[in-house]
Amino acid sequence: MSEDPDLDLELVPAPADKYLSMVLLVDDQMMICEAVRRALAGQPELDFHYCTNPLDAIRIANETKPTVILQDLVMPGMDGLDLVREYRQNPATQSVPVIVLSAKEEPAIKGEAFNAGANDYLVKLPDRIELIARIRYHTRAYLDHVQRNQAYRALRESQRQLIKANLELERLTRIDGLTSLGNRRYFDEYLSLEWMRGRRRQTPVSLLMIDVDNFKRYNDSYGHLAGDEALKRVARAIQDSLSRATDLAARFGGEEFVAVLVNGSETGANQIAEKMLQAVRDLQIPHGEGCVTISIGVANALPGEENSAGELLHNADQALFRAKMKGRDQVVSYESLGEKKE
Ligand code: GH3
Ligand code: MG
Ligand code: MG
Repeated sequence: MSEDPDLDLELVPAPADKYLSMVLLVDDQMMICEAVRRALAGQPELDFHYCTNPLDAIRIANETKPTVILQDLVMPGMDGLDLVREYRQNPATQSVPVIVLSAKEEPAIKGEAFNAGANDYLVKLPDRIELIARIRYHTRAYLDHVQRNQAYRALRESQRQLIKANLELERLTRIDGLTSLGNRRYFDEYLSLEWMRGRRRQTPVSLLMIDVDNFKRYNDSYGHLAGDEALKRVARAIQDSLSRATDLAARFGGEEFVAVLVNGSETGANQIAEKMLQAVRDLQIPHGEGCVTISIGVANALPGEENSAGELLHNADQALFRAKMKGRDQVVSYESLGEKKE
């Protein structure tokens, strides 16, 4: 301990600087105010304010932000206990410790004071040592409480940020960075889930395998960056051709895309594929003598015991291969290939 002249106060150590106390005394008697002021005078860490008009108490408390309130019980025009209840209602003083100063040492009055929300009870005038010790004790408890609340709020805020970051991270793990469509991983997950669902409900799944035509040549002529831009626009056209919330468009890899259509018909899937073809043509991205186009292979299946999502993918790929063979910029459905498979 430092050279505190009040050696007898050492039992309750003086709080550190951050524990500066602001004591507000509410008492109608000037004489009491003066006595308390003098009692606290030698304590640099105790800041002192008093208020002799109980009707001003709440306003002054709001302004001075006390760490402890010393509250007289009997005052003209207002019951001290009503004021204690008001402190408890008032957001700024809600948890500020209140020490009731009473002229009487009566259990019934004490009980009432604690019921009203007081934290401590002293018979006036308490001796200086006891008064200072209690003020220090309550200030420390109050400031610890405030700090804990602040720490708690900071914790809650960082938790909130973490949840937000995690959601964003989760979103990023499903999204293709270049085109913002679903990525390969998300497509795999989606197809296998929809395949299982189709199997349970006996509803069909269609798959569109989409590939940009002669894209190597596009890169060679216009550069890789222009190629990236073209891929982005093609991706958007593909996405915009889908109509149902359950349809998924994803980047399969490179300049290849896929679309999963759930619970539609074969003709529906072909129509969507034709729509994509037209949407890409409409972009009118110059490419050699013409424009950028795509080819699409479509396959449909009713998920069951004897087939698989992998087979559906394979079939769509075969249909795409045929579309390329037939000259590109067209849709071929696996079902139209007939019995003769390549
Ligand atoms: P085909 O009509 O038969 O599909 O011909 P293709 O040239 O499109 O096919 P190929 O598979 O030979 O070439 C695909 C090209 O796509 C090669 C590669 O440079 C390009 N590519 C793949 N991914 C990207 C990408 O992310 N950005 C760019 N700019 N080009 C890409
Ligand atoms: Mg290609
Ligand atoms: Mg390709």
